[in-house]
Amino acid sequence: MEKYDVIIVGTGPAGMGAAFSLLEKRKDLKIIMLDKKPFSTGGMRNDCKMNFTFPIGFPLEYWQEDIANHYLDKVTQFLKPEILPKSNISTYQARAERLNCKLLEIKQTHLGTDGGLELIKKLQKELEAQGVTLALNEEMISIDNKEKTIRTNKRTLGYKSILIAPGRQGFHFLQDVMNMLSIPYMDNIIDVGIRVETRLEHYPIVKDYYDPKFYFKEKVRTFCTNSGNAHVVKEKYATARGDVWYSVNGHAFKADENKNNGLVNFAILKTVKLTEPLASGQEFAEHLGLLAALMGGGKPLMQRVGDFRLGRRSKISTFNEDLYDFKPSLIDCCPSDISLAMPSKILRYIWSAMKNLDTIVPGILHPSTIMYYPEIKLYANKPEYKDEHFQVAEGVFFAGDGAGTSRGITGAWASGIRASEGMIEYL
Ligand SMILES: Cc1cc2nc3c(=O)[nH]c(=O)nc-3n(C[C@H](O)[C@H](O)[C@H](O)COP(=O)(O)OP(=O)(O)OC[C@H]3O[C@@H](n4cnc5c(N)ncnc54)[C@H](O)[C@@H]3O)c2cc1C
Repeated sequence: MEKYDVIIVGTGPAGMGAAFSLLEKRKDLKIIMLDKKPFSTGGMRNDCKMNFTFPIGFPLEYWQEDIANHYLDKVTQFLKPEILPKSNISTYQARAERLNCKLLEIKQTHLGTDGGLELIKKLQKELEAQGVTLALNEEMISIDNKEKTIRTNKRTLGYKSILIAPGRQGFHFLQDVMNMLSIPYMDNIIDVGIRVETRLEHYPIVKDYYDPKFYFKEKVRTFCTNSGNAHVVKEKYATARGDVWYSVNGHAFKADENKNNGLVNFAILKTVKLTEPLASGQEFAEHLGLLAALMGGGKPLMQRVGDFRLGRRSKISTFNEDLYDFKPSLIDCCPSDISLAMPSKILRYIWSAMKNLDTIVPGILHPSTIMYYPEIKLYANKPEYKDEHFQVAEGVFFAGDGAGTSRGITGAWASGIRASEGMIEYL
């Protein structure tokens, strides 16, 4: 059996942040990084827009502003982002304030899906050059922390300390790990909402601010805006019983301006925190996802704003006529009536946010605008951390979006660095 000082599971930003931070402090460490895919599969691979301003991407229960800024400085020093210019922000901010909404001004950079893949490959090469073993297409299956071993789909590996950072899609796996290690946990929040797709001229703010962060009443916000060569995509999820549902998401390519499709997409999400007697946000999210899949014949749903306002479903036959003047970028989606699948309270808040947004940036309520549903962000149940470095059991650390310590690339990278400092102390 091969033994390593450190095993890192997941080559997303949390895993990368930890690996580079470990190498900076302890070049002598024997490190292996595993990923079940050929490269990391989260936001670095999809659109790769990065936010460098607190609190974007930093869950407040784990990050105070000064601590987050301390780690954000380290992320900035390492990634050396080219911050995108912004203009006319005060005009939009004044309009938002009149409606009791807020527009946060965030330092951002955007590499695009193509640029993100280049960055991942560059970082992987740097890690290998510094002696890290990259075991791609290898999946961690189980852990025995008494023996200090993990089992993968290929072999057994030994460790002194391990970081598990499997991202959002790894939430079932992380739950299994918590059960294997008897780590106490609490239920986590979920974000539920829609993805809006419209023509660039109906959301022109993106020319002034690539990913505008609007905050509305009742914990509703805009999230992950993509424009230019922008596409809505679907992500596959499966319940523990193997039932499949899809969440939508979005991304854009940066290179080749000639391929711009003239579209913008962004999410409008409502944060939902459940309390007793129904305590599982994950189960709630899965039920919503399954209901949407049921309504859509196994696909996510889409509805034009024009149909939604008239209270009628969108149909294939009505989807591309007259005013409905652009084709959806996500073809494999079912024209439907999202109000039949979405809890009314969530829909009410989201529709109210859309009306506010249309007053701040007139255009998005054009009848051709498409509302895709569901866009759901779920996280693993929140483990009980033993210390501020996200240690969950002796020598075992969690980090990143799956573990709930971040909600974005830079936050994940920062949480990886923070965990790595605990690993160094432990070693
Ligand atoms: C389509 C899409 C677009 C996004 N766009 C953005 C964006 O533009 N900006 C932004 O800030 N955030 C974005 N995000 C969110 C972003 O992906 C996350 O915040 C970030 O990637 C979290 O980093 P992570 O390291 O925790 O997890 P991830 O980046 O998800 O990495 C986890 C890795 O672990 C691997 N893994 C999982 N389970 C196992 C296992 N059992 N064994 C081995 N490997 C395993 C996965 O294959 C994956 O590569 C986007 C997410 C998606 C899905």
